[in-house]
Amino acid sequence: MDKKEILKEFSSDPDRYYKVELFEQQGFVRKSCSKCGRFFWTLNSERNLCPDDAEDTYSFIGDPPTSKRFDYTQSWKEVESFFVKNNHTSVSRYPVVCRWRDDLYFTIASIVDFQRVMGSKVVFEFPANPLVVPQTCLRFKDLENVGVTGRHFSSFCMIGQHSIPNSEGYWKDQCVDLDYRLLTEQFGIKKDEVVFVEDVWAGGGSFGPSLEYFVKGLELGNAVFTEFQGELGRHTTLDQRVIDMGAGLERFSWITMGTPTAYDCCFGPINEKLFNIIGIDSDSEILRKYFTEIAKEIDHYDDLNEVRRLAIKNAGISDDQLNKMITPMEGMYLIADHLRTLIFAISDGALPSNVGGGYNLRMMLRRINATISKLNLKLDIDDLIDTHTDYLKNTYPELDEKRDDVKAILKIESQRYEDSKVHMKKKADKIKEKGTPTVDELITFYESDGITPEYLKEVNAISEIPSSFYSKLSDLHQSDKKKTIAELPLEGLAETETLFYQDDPMGFNAKVLKVFDDMVVLDRTSFYARGGGQEPDHGSIAGFSVIDVDKHANIIVHKLKGGVPKEGDNVSCKVDATRRSNITKNHTSTHILNASSRGVLGSWVWQHSAFKEDDHARLDITHHSSLTDSQVKQIEDAANNMIKQNYPVNIEYFDRGTAEQKYGFRIYQGGVVPVKAVRIVSIEDKDIEACGGTHVKKTGEIELIKITKTKRIQDGVVRLEFVSGPTAFEYVKEQQAEDEKQKELEANKEKIEIQRKENKQKAREKIPVLIEKILAGESVESEGIFVKDKLCFTASPDYDDFFHQNFGKKLVAKDSKAAFCGIFESGPTIRVMVYAGAESGINSGKIAKEIASILGGSGGGDAKFAQGGGKDTSKKDEAIAKAKSMILG
Ligand SMILES: [Zn+2]
Ligand SMILES: [Zn+2]
Repeated sequence: MDKKEILKEFSSDPDRYYKVELFEQQGFVRKSCSKCGRFFWTLNSERNLCPDDAEDTYSFIGDPPTSKRFDYTQSWKEVESFFVKNNHTSVSRYPVVCRWRDDLYFTIASIVDFQRVMGSKVVFEFPANPLVVPQTCLRFKDLENVGVTGRHFSSFCMIGQHSIPNSEGYWKDQCVDLDYRLLTEQFGIKKDEVVFVEDVWAGGGSFGPSLEYFVKGLELGNAVFTEFQGELGRHTTLDQRVIDMGAGLERFSWITMGTPTAYDCCFGPINEKLFNIIGIDSDSEILRKYFTEIAKEIDHYDDLNEVRRLAIKNAGISDDQLNKMITPMEGMYLIADHLRTLIFAISDGALPSNVGGGYNLRMMLRRINATISKLNLKLDIDDLIDTHTDYLKNTYPELDEKRDDVKAILKIESQRYEDSKVHMKKKADKIKEKGTPTVDELITFYESDGITPEYLKEVNAISEIPSSFYSKLSDLHQSDKKKTIAELPLEGLAETETLFYQDDPMGFNAKVLKVFDDMVVLDRTSFYARGGGQEPDHGSIAGFSVIDVDKHANIIVHKLKGGVPKEGDNVSCKVDATRRSNITKNHTSTHILNASSRGVLGSWVWQHSAFKEDDHARLDITHHSSLTDSQVKQIEDAANNMIKQNYPVNIEYFDRGTAEQKYGFRIYQGGVVPVKAVRIVSIEDKDIEACGGTHVKKTGEIELIKITKTKRIQDGVVRLEFVSGPTAFEYVKEQQAEDEKQKELEANKEKIEIQRKENKQKAREKIPVLIEKILAGESVESEGIFVKDKLCFTASPDYDDFFHQNFGKKLVAKDSKAAFCGIFESGPTIRVMVYAGAESGINSGKIAKEIASILGGSGGGDAKFAQGGGKDTSKKDEAIAKAKSMILG
């Protein structure tokens, strides 16, 4: 929908769309900007320019229009107390990791907290009406602006003021009245400083007018009245109209403090810490001038580098000031901002990685690391995390208990960055050679090698970071969670009655509603359809095998083999109970392992995905590193302990909003639940998940869980393969058999080794005796040695390598007329060894060569000593005969 068209339409009838009671009561006048034509409402009839174009833009820097001064924490207290005083419920922030929406990784606005997607429709679920919430929102589109512009953050607190106009809530008049009083009464802003600008909002098929409110050119908030749906002109009023007023808490603080940047009043004591390190006074005239220039120009240029150059010129910043003051300050602000975002994201269970939303987190940490090394800083990140958390816990107490987890993750990630530097340097050198890369190339460098443009700038491989880099990267990783649905002829069919959620009979009768190809739809079924990682039931329908079951919206489709019944038939159905029981045990086991992994590893562990089959299953969890053997053992032990405790597995249905309020967003381990009634499966307080699968009644039924394998399958995800129940016992049995076999093999090996040692010893003792006998002319044929005139030959299997060597060597040393040739087996080869005394008349080399060639191998040596061998065992006898004749004649 064209926003301009809608704005034109609405502004042509301001009485209907924009004029609220407040404007009448206070005497606001409606003006059109003499520069841009936009319509705005003001008490100052002299004002002719809209806030974006007016002269007073950003004049609050150094000259705040309020008598009161509130920092970030105090600002929220003011906002909260004002709205609570005016009958609003103050709701705690929702997680920044948006587990309840399929299309978002991170919470980007306060209204997202209350949006639930049902099919193609977005519905609103408010825990209270009206309400106010300090919602931390993560946005990565303007990353290059962070630290530079004075007002862009990677995460900020959106003050969400929301109301549904019914008996409890209110509509436009009261909303604008409240916002005006918040500014003037609570924050002490002079009435004629407040300007309301007419605008519109459109998205997700609905639209409505909005009033943005400004003070001194700074947009503080935007009250959106989501009112219509459909095409402009043919639009209708929504059943559920909603007020979506979002305001930036950081800006509320900034307008009262008038500091050079919004960062100066929103990060708490961390700024002072950082500025002490670089020795800058952030409250100086030159900085006020510089950042006012930046603020004024930022909306007029697309390229941030351009804006920066202009501000440097206009504020009269010298090169020295730029290098010693501006650049380090930008770095400090960046570090403070990015660290704050990482604290929120990691506390809420996200991990830096190279997939999905993890991309942005890794990018931020790398920007922190690159900045630290560029500015050559010695920073204690743990200490900075503590400083941030101590300040933030005033508003967000839940961050307090996660600080050690945040430290652990950042340490591991920073180390990874350090480890990859050598590789990155090589790549950067190549990039330098090739010349300036395009934005797409830069994105590829980051995605495939983790090389940030900050790093490339740091090593002078590029001179500037293109301003479109971050918005492009963020677009790529904003919402790649998508699904495709197969088209089947199911129109007009009634929802299948799911017996597995009732008595769960393994045998039942049903009516065939539809048959197409080998697919059958029944009016009721106890066949569990594939879903939530649980594989489908098998069994039979009317005697035909059921080989697959799938769910399409609310209709369950069975795939048959061998034939199909007729439409209208009443059929008898049987579920394979053993298969189902095994799958069920595996499913409850994934919940148990998820809980035990979280307990052993840390709060960042979430189920990434799961798969539950009959004879095996796997659970993929979010974790930063491969698991050690000891961790695997601990997880398995903790899981089996949960089995031993025989905890009941409870299944209860809740209204979704109630479940979220009661248990938090941990329930969304298996992903988004697109229904209003949530099925909560809980194992005491150890594990509570929204889950549609089948489960055992008590954990003891599982009897045993064995983890068979673990593997880091992608960055930030570890896979646990496991078996449970009877399969686990089989696995243990197999393992034991395998162990025993291994032991036996080991024992055998040992035996052989002992035998060898004994033989060696015996042979060693025998050698001198044999030699003496031979030289004395006595027969040693009984020992398997044939002698003729001191020339000896043996092929006895009693002698090994060691014997031949020692015997031959010693014999010829004692008598130069003696010679020895031995043939023996050594592993797969038959070897020959020949020793000949100088006066024996035997040539060792000749014999060894000849024998080896008979055996299909080769031999070598000289006249005194030679050896060789071959693998052709069929020639063994021939070789022995030949050798014997060669030496004995
Ligand atoms: Zn204007
Ligand atoms: Zn489950």
